[in-house]
Amino acid sequence: MLELLPVPPADPLWDLTAEYAADPRPERLDLVLGVYRDHTGVTPVMAAVKEAEIRLAERSGSKEYLGLSGNAAFNRAMLTTVLGTGTLTERATAVQTVAGTGALRLLADLVRQTRPGTTVWISDPAYVNHRPILEGAGLTVRTYRWLDPTGRSDATGMMEDLALAGAGDVVLLQGCCHNPTGADPSFETWEELAGLAATNGWVPFVDLAYHGLGDGLDADLRPTRMLAERLPEVLIAVSCSKNFGLYSDRTGCAVVVGSSARALRHVETALQNAARTLYSMPPDHGAAVVATVLEDERLRAAWRAELDAMRQRITADREDLVAHLGALGHERQARALAAQKGMFSMLPLGPEGMLRMRRRSGIYGTTAGRINIAGVPAHRIPFLAQGIADALRTPSAAETV
Ligand code: PLP
Repeated sequence: MLELLPVPPADPLWDLTAEYAADPRPERLDLVLGVYRDHTGVTPVMAAVKEAEIRLAERSGSKEYLGLSGNAAFNRAMLTTVLGTGTLTERATAVQTVAGTGALRLLADLVRQTRPGTTVWISDPAYVNHRPILEGAGLTVRTYRWLDPTGRSDATGMMEDLALAGAGDVVLLQGCCHNPTGADPSFETWEELAGLAATNGWVPFVDLAYHGLGDGLDADLRPTRMLAERLPEVLIAVSCSKNFGLYSDRTGCAVVVGSSARALRHVETALQNAARTLYSMPPDHGAAVVATVLEDERLRAAWRAELDAMRQRITADREDLVAHLGALGHERQARALAAQKGMFSMLPLGPEGMLRMRRRSGIYGTTAGRINIAGVPAHRIPFLAQGIADALRTPSAAETV
């Protein structure tokens, strides 16, 4: 049987990570995956998470199945964290998932169960997994413009393209800190999007993977909450991988906002059915940790403070990079980077420039130009700026062969 298996496409990001690992240059820099690293290059376990884990280990008495919706305390805590403590939670439901990816997949399946073949619009460029997840769930994918040629959010292009999205379509929007570009729309553009959705009848599907790492937790969640307040239906995929540092614990949540509590009556069962056919139920550990942190006022405050410190560190590194690039004579490119937010920045190098940067300096970002700013130790910023400047230099004849 296996001889019939066609050669599958390799995962481009993990391939680059393997190439980095095999690079013998000690000064090499891995900025491929979206992972926060501290100044020593380590992805730390957050102190509030560690404390919750110790508490859970001391109390643990059973690892019995929890049910298809996962950890109920976690689901409640996620609803108020994402939607706030107002009345929105009364017309919303949440189901724990296998991280943000699981939430995207389960919500895509909910859309398919509602209307097979539904068209889902994703940004161009998009998070590398959006298209495969949606197509894997049997949905049709179309794209809308996201970035203008200067590296900023292209509000005009996006509104023009999304004016073509019709009733019954779904529009996937990254709630903040867009992956891969780091370019987010202004709040006014978000409000225009809400107006367009209300007029044309499409449903926003918000992907929240980096809330807390852009402008702060509440500021990053503001567009999502505004959409949920103004529109009858919103789907929200929530990841706890980055803002709780729970990458390998695969912790996330599918949130559905409906026009009323009654309108949601079949939603949880539909999501459970989707989960049952994929993985039955999600792992509990990360969800139990998040619930423990969010339900305890002191731990919640400690987590928020640590998340703020991570965000400030990323912002400071980006500002430093912008300053160094400017000093090297690349003010125009630096200005575009300055407007970007969150873990990622899109470099104006193109695939060849990214390859040049890899070859000349051992700096690894994605082929399309994305680098993980949150992965650069502060003292390596001058090296990164120099690497970008070197990659911007015209290739030598030897390099073009
Ligand atoms: N959505 C976006 C935009 C992402 O960048 C990621 C991860 O990088 C995810 C979702 C999924 O995150 P995870 O499944 O690790 O929680």
